[in-house]
Amino acid sequence: MWEALSTVRKYLWRYRAGLAAGGVCLVLKDIAQALQPLMIRSAVDRFRDPGHAFLYYAGLLVGLALLKGIFQYWMRVVIIGISRDIEYDLRNDIYAHLAGLAPDYYGRTRTGDIMARATNDLNAVRMMLGPGLMYWFETSLTFLFAVLIMVRVDWRLAIFAVMPAPAVSFAVVFFGRRIHDRFERLQGMFSDISSRVQENLSGVRMVRAFVQEEAEMRRFEELNRGYIAQSLKLVRIQGIFDPLLAALIGLTFLAVLYVGGRQVLEGRISVGSFVMFNTYMGMLVWPMIAFGWVVNLTQRGSASLRRINEIFAERPSIAAPPNAISLPEARGEIEFRGVTVDYGNGAALDSIDLRVPAGMTLAVVGRTGSGKSTLVNLVPRLLDPTAGAVLLDGIDIRRLDPAQLRRHIGFVPQETFLFSATIAENIAFGVDRATEQQIRRAAELAGLAGDIDSFPEGYRTMVGERGITLSGGQKQRTAIARALLRDPRILILDDALSSVDTLTEERILTHLAAVMRGRTVISISHRVSTVRQAGRIVVLEKGRVVEQGIHAELIAAGGYYADLSRKQTLEEELEVL
Ligand code: ADP
Ligand code: MG
Repeated sequence: MWEALSTVRKYLWRYRAGLAAGGVCLVLKDIAQALQPLMIRSAVDRFRDPGHAFLYYAGLLVGLALLKGIFQYWMRVVIIGISRDIEYDLRNDIYAHLAGLAPDYYGRTRTGDIMARATNDLNAVRMMLGPGLMYWFETSLTFLFAVLIMVRVDWRLAIFAVMPAPAVSFAVVFFGRRIHDRFERLQGMFSDISSRVQENLSGVRMVRAFVQEEAEMRRFEELNRGYIAQSLKLVRIQGIFDPLLAALIGLTFLAVLYVGGRQVLEGRISVGSFVMFNTYMGMLVWPMIAFGWVVNLTQRGSASLRRINEIFAERPSIAAPPNAISLPEARGEIEFRGVTVDYGNGAALDSIDLRVPAGMTLAVVGRTGSGKSTLVNLVPRLLDPTAGAVLLDGIDIRRLDPAQLRRHIGFVPQETFLFSATIAENIAFGVDRATEQQIRRAAELAGLAGDIDSFPEGYRTMVGERGITLSGGQKQRTAIARALLRDPRILILDDALSSVDTLTEERILTHLAAVMRGRTVISISHRVSTVRQAGRIVVLEKGRVVEQGIHAELIAAGGYYADLSRKQTLEEELEVL
């Protein structure tokens, strides 16, 4: 637990003043509470005295109860409040950390798992730091005070009163460990379930299209059944644990009543002391139960904390270097120097050497899986090469601040993502103060303006998960508009016109040629019509450049490109017929 706690030390330290105040309330509350049985003893022993002694002690007792209540209230408000503050800080930090991690992390981590850690586990940590920590100190102190006072009054009786403590501790350790294991497994299963749900909701179209509702339902039911079975295992062991504690405590009461009663009969202790002992015993019941509870909270909390710390332990594989070179203006020359990329199953790119002078349009063609996307993903550092380097204006991009590097680049990925926001907000994504005119102009250049005008609410139309569904081509053009709005030195189009018809494509290409004059463009396409005007065309195959040159040269070479061109010309002619 302590090793896990050391990572939240900085959060606890941040609230030290509040924790100290809460701690003072806790101590005062425990003192007021521990004094109560003493007042009861005095009241009972003075019962037959003349005068107002009894009333006096009764009054003190009420006063103490009032004080105890007030301090208990503030203890809870302050300490539980701080645990909420820490939860808030932790949640922000988790989010910030997740935002900084590179795409490869999300490639190997399930979203549901991350969500479970950010919700369930975070809550368990809060329970440990709030109620857990508070009741740990509160009950220990109560125990200490009660035992000290009892020992002073009659140490033999005190021994009987605390006798069950070792047994209780043993039971707590024994059961606690098992409870902890089962809880761990339960949390793991919960994360499986949330992953499953998340995938099914995102992939709802696939589930429908392949008529997998029932099969998915069955699979979900199976997971759910496993979860409930595991929950019941946890409940069963807790069901044994709690009554066992109660029985142990009941036995102690019995012993104290018997031994204490005899002491009174033999005149060794007063009736008041006997009543006092029983009151203390009653006071110790809660700490004994709370102790077990706190142990559970702590074990759950530290297990959860470990899982959260695994997120914090993830270092962004792509981070800003310590002494980043500043490049506020870029010319836009890109060079791949001996670039190899290996995802772990052979080279996706194999020592690529390629120079794209500033202002050139480079076209990349090649079969699916030949490494085209991998090549362009390197430029905004969505990925770093396994060997070799990518250079911008002669500088290794790993020595630049990634944020600054990316501001020079307009990137249209193969898979577009639209946010649940208006179409205007989606176009303006990543540009803080875009004016309406700028957004309109970007939409026009991307050949999207006409479509938007026909939307029900124009530029204010909601798209994405909570709005209208755009066609593949509309999505792609939104992504192009988004990239153009940045007014980038470098534009990267990863098969960005694949879902656009040839006519619209031609129009967009004409616009782009005008806007991107003097800027660097890397354009991936499987259409010869898109790339024939490019300053240079390279053909990738199995991660290697196998052909390069301008359109006419590659046609003359009679390789993959010439083949592609012939096929597509044939298709066009057939269409015309
Ligand atoms: P293209 O864009 O030309 O279709 P890619 O660059 O997407 O090709 O992929 C090149 C190769 O690298 C393929 O064999 C693909 O399976 C593999 N690959 C791409 N992305 C990943 C990834 N994130 N993890 C593992 N392998 C990948
Ligand atoms: Mg691709």
